[in-house]
Order: sequence, then structure tokens, then C-alpha cells
Amino acid sequence: MSTVPELFGSMVFDDKVMRARLSAEVYESLRDTIRKGKKLDLSVANAVADAMCAWAVENGATHFTHWFQPLTGITAEKHDGFISPAPDSHVLMKFSGKALIQGEPDASSFPSGGLRATFEARGYTAWDPTSYAFIKEKTLCIPTAFCSYGGEALDKKTPLLRSMEALNTQALRILRLFGNAEVQRVVPNVGPEQEYFLIDREMYLKRKDLIYTGRTLFGAKPPKGQELEDHYFGAIKPRVKAFMEELDEELWKLGIYAKTEHNEVAPCQHELAPIFTVANVASDHNQLMMEIMKKVALRHGMVCLLHEKPFAGVNGSGKHNNWSLSTDTGVNLLSPGETPYENAQFLLFLVAVLKAVDEYQGLLRLGVASAGNDHRLGANEAPPAVISVFLGDELSAVLRAIETESPYAGTEKRRLRLGADVLPRFNRDTTDRNRTSPFAFTGNKFEFRMVGSSDSISCANIMINAAVAEALRQFADRLESAEGDFDANLHELIRESVSKHKRIVFNGNGYDEAWIREATEQRGLKNLRTTPDALQMVLHPENVEMLVRHGIFSEAEIRSRYEITLENYVRTVRIEALTMADMARREILPALMRYRGDLALSVGAAKQAVPVLPCRSDVKRITQLSSLIDAIDEATDALAGCIEAMDGDVTAQAFYIRDRVLDAMSALRGVCDEAETITAASYWPFPTYGDLLFGV
Ligand code: ADP
Ligand code: MG
Repeated sequence: MSTVPELFGSMVFDDKVMRARLSAEVYESLRDTIRKGKKLDLSVANAVADAMCAWAVENGATHFTHWFQPLTGITAEKHDGFISPAPDSHVLMKFSGKALIQGEPDASSFPSGGLRATFEARGYTAWDPTSYAFIKEKTLCIPTAFCSYGGEALDKKTPLLRSMEALNTQALRILRLFGNAEVQRVVPNVGPEQEYFLIDREMYLKRKDLIYTGRTLFGAKPPKGQELEDHYFGAIKPRVKAFMEELDEELWKLGIYAKTEHNEVAPCQHELAPIFTVANVASDHNQLMMEIMKKVALRHGMVCLLHEKPFAGVNGSGKHNNWSLSTDTGVNLLSPGETPYENAQFLLFLVAVLKAVDEYQGLLRLGVASAGNDHRLGANEAPPAVISVFLGDELSAVLRAIETESPYAGTEKRRLRLGADVLPRFNRDTTDRNRTSPFAFTGNKFEFRMVGSSDSISCANIMINAAVAEALRQFADRLESAEGDFDANLHELIRESVSKHKRIVFNGNGYDEAWIREATEQRGLKNLRTTPDALQMVLHPENVEMLVRHGIFSEAEIRSRYEITLENYVRTVRIEALTMADMARREILPALMRYRGDLALSVGAAKQAVPVLPCRSDVKRITQLSSLIDAIDEATDALAGCIEAMDGDVTAQAFYIRDRVLDAMSALRGVCDEAETITAASYWPFPTYGDLLFGV
């Protein structure tokens, strides 16, 4: 068995391998591409491809694939063999620079939202050299972007890379204003904490809802749920422990920094936190992490559920997206500094994030919108659908002091002058955590807690990067053209921005009904409760203008993504509704009828048998069952009718789902769950919540 350092990254064509296997010249040229985004020329690509192929074959690979993230939300790969014919019926293992740089998957069945006319159904994939190639299941995987021949992005990676570029450009302008000539690149770092459930595979296979939709569509509340919170950080069960150990090893081999694993609040819910890394790599790694979690769980007789809300009444799963900005000189721009100068710069970046979140609430919300996440946002364990920023008392007090030009207690009752005063030290105490805030400052990073557990983190980060880039652009425009003293201008800019955007700051309990009222009625914040509502935001002219201005999306790309996401929403809910109707008709109703029939027989038998009298509770139960059977039958017909009546374009269908189908689904669920509570366990047709939640 190898040690962790030996294991770590052993399946990755990383910097260490490159340095060892490439000539100095090729290595430097590739480094330049990676660092500065310079174009790779073919001779370099050929040399890299040769080295990659030799390394991959030595490590057991037989195939290669361009690995990409189409708009379906999962990753795609098409495997090609390295094998190529050689004289005397022999074969060679070969890989060319051309095949490394660009691929042409026949991608006509990936969603494009009309971007690719059918006559040019091909898309192409292009290597993202900033994300290292790796070997997975004997296949060399090359992380790539996926575009149409017209150059439109057909994936989640391309716009993410573009948004990072925009952020870099604007952040550098700000740093130059502070006299920093040294920094060449600013990147967003992301550490996504992944939540998931593990359930027993045998039980999973008995539930069509889990198989078809990834969540339970029925299930009465078990006598014990998460009330005792005895699972949170509790001792990890041996079977789960074995899973986690194997998962860690698999991830380490791929150079993924899996670090902390612990139990979550809900029974059989867990979390895995990686160490943060550059946003595009973090996104690739998160996709891999989800895939490998599912595979490893199967090897242990379990199924990993990544759905945002697999069980009603217990916590759902999210992905806390920890986000910060750092320079290539190793400075975290969201970390309060030691000197007045660093403090002022920190505050400017901090205020830029406030402005970004306030002005682009709609985009942030739509970046996490999905049918699954709608069950979670606003339910009482997840952040509300209203977006606000938690800063903590100390930092809020500092901003208030700046805004009102009043003395700050921590600075000996003097007024804070940016650029002149040292800020008080912020407490990074973790006890001061607000777990109900959708967007919380946690000392040197922001934690965006609305991302769904099954979603790619790309969309959320595209929107954060874009919004912050825009805020920085406006700041840079103003400071660059301002006359007079830089410190005074800076101070005024921060003061004004705090005043303008303080409505987005909220340090209280985000689950509180009173907050939702205050947020929407007094502060005018958006409360976009559902995916169809949230998605409308992307069509607003000011949002389109911003995304286009920074080159993150073209108008056509925005339109196509809008369609694809809504289509996905409609399809997801439709499948759920059909699955419900199917389970109700073919499993639940027959079970109830059988139970009722058996009870009726026993009543009949009791009548004849002398001297046993018919039992009152038999009769009562039969009556209850009869009326529930009718109610279920009616609710099923109503739901089926509702689905059939779905009509119009995708927007109309999505709103119809929001207004009608979801209600019909919950009505059906209500009567079925009630029936479960009075049906003998041996008659119930599939594993219950109790079985699933406590079955591992
Ligand atoms: P905390 O307990 O303060 O939230 P942790 O160290 O437990 O911090 O980290 C939680 C997650 O946040 C981890 O995935 C971690 O990698 C990530 N993270 C920590 N620092 C940063 C940062 N500067 N930028 C982005 N993510 C970060
Ligand atoms: Mg956290």
C-alpha cells in the first residue's frame, strides 16, 4: 500500500510529471499557455501528446477521451483507443498533438437550445490546459471546453473560463490603482463542500421514485427523523467509514484534495469538503467527485443520492461554495490585511462583492435554479430564496462607521480614514457562524450556500465572477478618472457604496418569516421562489447587457441556456409526476386493496364463526381504507389529467408546472402518506422512510 503522498495525484499528468517528461523548452512553452493563456503551437502540442501518451500507457491506459461538461449537467466522454496500426500486424500506442488540442465529438444529441442548426450538428472540444489531464478507468481524460462550429459555448466550462478572464481583467485594474505592478493574474478560488446521502442499495432498487427521479415522491414521516440531531458529527458507521476511505483514495489518485468527511444533521447524510483550488479546476474536480462517490458507493452495496431533497421532512443537500479571490503572488484579496493600505484594498474588494450581490441577486439565484433545488431553498434548513449577505457584527460596525463618518469603537474613538487607519482585527471565530445566510463572509472568503448538491458549481461561479467583475469595472472606471487625492476618492467610493448597498447585509436569522417580509417589503430584495421565476431574470436587459459586455455569454447563448434550463425543469417534474401516477396506480392502490380485501375476509369469517363477533376496529379500518383508496384514485386521475393538459411553449409549461402540477403532486402524496400510516407494514409495497434512513 502506498502512502498518501505517493498516492496523491498519481493518476494526474501534473506539473511534476510535465517537468520530468517534457524538454525544458516544451515545458516552458506549456507553462506559458497555462499561466498566461497563450496559444499552444502544434509542435509543442505534439511533444506534449507524445509524453502524455507514454505516461498514460505506463499507467495502464488504453484509451483517451476529451472530457467535457455539456449542458446536461453531467460530464461526457467519448473514448478513442491509442492503438494504431504498425507494420507486420503490430500495433503502436499513439496520440497526436492535434487530437490533444481539439476533438470533434458527434454531439448532435447534446442540448444546444437551438444554437447548432442540424446541418452543422458537430461541436468541437478544445483542451483547457489549466486543468490537468488524468487517468480514470484506463482512460486518459483531457479536460476540454465544448463549443459549436460558430464558436458558441455548448458547455458549462467555456463561460466559466470567460468569467474568470473578465474578473482577472477588472481586478488587475484595481490593483494597478493601488500601485501594484507586480501581480499578473487574479483568480477566483473555490472550495465546494459536497453533501450527500447514502442508502442501502437493495432498498433503493425497490423504489421506482429513487430509480427514476433520485428522490422519494412518497413516504410518511417516520417515528424518528433528525429531531435528536444525534447524527451530526456522530461516529461514522463501519460501512460508511469503509466507503469514505475508498473514496478518499480514489480522489487522491486524481489529485483531488478531499480533506474532511463528517456526518451531517439528517440520518445517513454526509459531507465531503475538499481543499479549495482555482474555480475551473474546482468545478472539474467536483464533477469527478460526484461521479466517483456514486461508483464507490455501489461497491459497498450502497447508493449515493446527490439530489437536493431526497426525503421530505429531513434536511436536503447543498454544496457550500466557498469563494475568494487571490493573486499569483499569493495574496487573498478578501483577507483583511495588516497595514492601512492593505485594509483599504480589502474593503474595496469586500464592498465590490456587496454591490455585486445586491445588483445581481437575480443572476445569483438563477445560477442555482433547478427543480430539485426548489424543494430546498426556503425550506427550513436551507438558505431562503431571498439573497442577503452576512458580514458579522464587527465588520458591519466598521462599514457603518465609514458610512456615517462616525467614530468606530475599536479605533480609540477616532474616525476611520481609509488608507490611514489600521482596521481592528476581525475575529475569525467559527462560533460566530450564521448558518442561515445564503451568502456569508467567513473571515477571508464568502460562502455561497444556495448551490444544489447535484448541480455543477459552474453556473453559480459564472454569476458570482461576472457580477463582481462588473462591480470592479465600475469602481475602476470611477477611480481611474477621478481627480485629486486617491485615498480621499477611495474613501468616498467605499462610503457611497456601503450606503447604497447596505440593504443586502443581514446578520440575523434568515429562516425567520419576519425577515422574509422585511427583505421583500422594506428592503425591496427579490424573493424568487421557483426556477421559472428565477430564470426570467436572465432575460432582463440590464443582466443581458452585463453578461455580454464582459464577453461571458452572447445574447444567443443566454437565450439558449434559458431554454435548456427551463426544458430541463419541465422534463424533470414531468418524469416525477408520471412516476407518482405509476406508483400510485400499480403499487400503492393494489396494496391497499389487498389489505382491505383481507380485512373484509376476516370480518366475513368473524360473522360466521360462532361465537367470535366482528371486531369494530376491522370495520373502522376498512372504512378508512375505502375512503383513502377513492381519494388516491381521484388524486391520481387529477395529476394525470394535469400532465396531459400541459401545453404551449417551454415557458408556459414551466409556469403551468409551478402553478398546477406541483400542487397536484403534493395532493396525491398527502393521501398516499396518510394511507401508509394505517396500512400493515407487510402490505406496504416499498421500503419506508424509516427503512431507508436507518437502513445502512
Ligand atoms: P471554515 O471552517 O472557516 O469554513 P474550512 O477550512 O473548514 O473553513 O473550509 C471550508 C471550505 O472552504 C473548504 O472546502 C475549504 O477548502 C474552503 N476554503 C477555505 N479557504 C478558502 C478560500 N480562501 N477560498 C476558497 N475556499 C476556501
Ligand atoms: Mg462551511
